Amino acid sequence: MEFLRAASVDEALAAAQGGAAFVAGGTNLVPDVLFGRKKIARAVDISRLDELRFIEEADGKIRIGALASVTDLLESELIRAAASPLYESALEFAGPLVRNRASVAGNLMDASPAADLAPPLLVQDAVVELASAEGERSLPLSEFFLDYRKTAVRPEELMKAIVIEPLKTDDRCAYYKLQLRRAMAIAVLGVAVVLRMEKSVCVEAAISLGAVAAVPYRAQAAEACLRGKEVGEAEIETAAEAAKDSAQPIDDVRASAAYRKKMCGVLVRRLLKKALGMPQTVAV
Ligand SMILES: Cc1cc2nc3c(=O)[nH]c(=O)nc-3n(C[C@H](O)[C@H](O)[C@H](O)COP(=O)(O)OP(=O)(O)OC[C@H]3O[C@@H](n4cnc5c(N)ncnc54)[C@H](O)[C@@H]3O)c2cc1C
Repeated sequence: MEFLRAASVDEALAAAQGGAAFVAGGTNLVPDVLFGRKKIARAVDISRLDELRFIEEADGKIRIGALASVTDLLESELIRAAASPLYESALEFAGPLVRNRASVAGNLMDASPAADLAPPLLVQDAVVELASAEGERSLPLSEFFLDYRKTAVRPEELMKAIVIEPLKTDDRCAYYKLQLRRAMAIAVLGVAVVLRMEKSVCVEAAISLGAVAAVPYRAQAAEACLRGKEVGEAEIETAAEAAKDSAQPIDDVRASAAYRKKMCGVLVRRLLKKALGMPQTVAV
């Protein structure tokens, strides 16, 4: 395997022409190569490109540099204030050692259905900025995941940043990672919800699910059960049922498909109630 350490983004893009694996934190890539799950002809190390490591407010949006780590998310006041589901997902991500190295771009590019950062980024209408030697383009995260571990990113393209819509102070949101233990666990199910309310009417709804299909996705049918409606118990019940119906999970070592599907409905119901401050018997 050829290994190159890039000193600038331009150098990384030039080195990646014809296709390469970019190395960010290496927390997915290194084990994949060591255990023979991935064969790589050329690796381009981008981990020292500080120009890709930032979290900033720009033109009314939040821009997260590709190399921002999960720890950077936790240490950002901006993320805590205007992207609280993302902040909460970072709290539940692996353990401190992995969080220090794991990058936001690496989490998305690995395209695991259980990638923790995907559901919270999806509910904030994330758009990824991609660059290659040919030029730059933007891609909504909702069009990014094509299939199990398959993205719409070309082999020579580098993710430079992820741009999200900041939440408003009165947006109602919640996040939950269902996992078998409280650290170093792959999600059995990840759920993020954001509701924008005008009095009791929901004017905007975003619900996303991870680990219950080949890709993380927005549960659009469930969102439609809430958008434009006065939201009470009945609407929440219909939305939870629609989320459950949308799930196409598999059986694996962590949970059965039937359990995952059932928990989609349970958790969407609980998170919607939590977001709206409604009473419930089981707290999340
Ligand atoms: C012990 C352990 C615990 C873990 N726990 C969790 C967890 O709780 N939740 C979770 O979601 N994940 C977890 N992971 C998986 C992993 O840590 C994350 O997915 C992490 O965010 C990957 O980021 P990275 O920077 O290490 O990516 P890398 O391993 O460097 O790269 C991953 C993939 O993305 C590509 N890539 C990286 N950056 C770019 C870029 N800028 N542009 C284009 N392609 C790029 C690489 O070529 C590679 O294909 C865990 C991994 C380990 C080893």
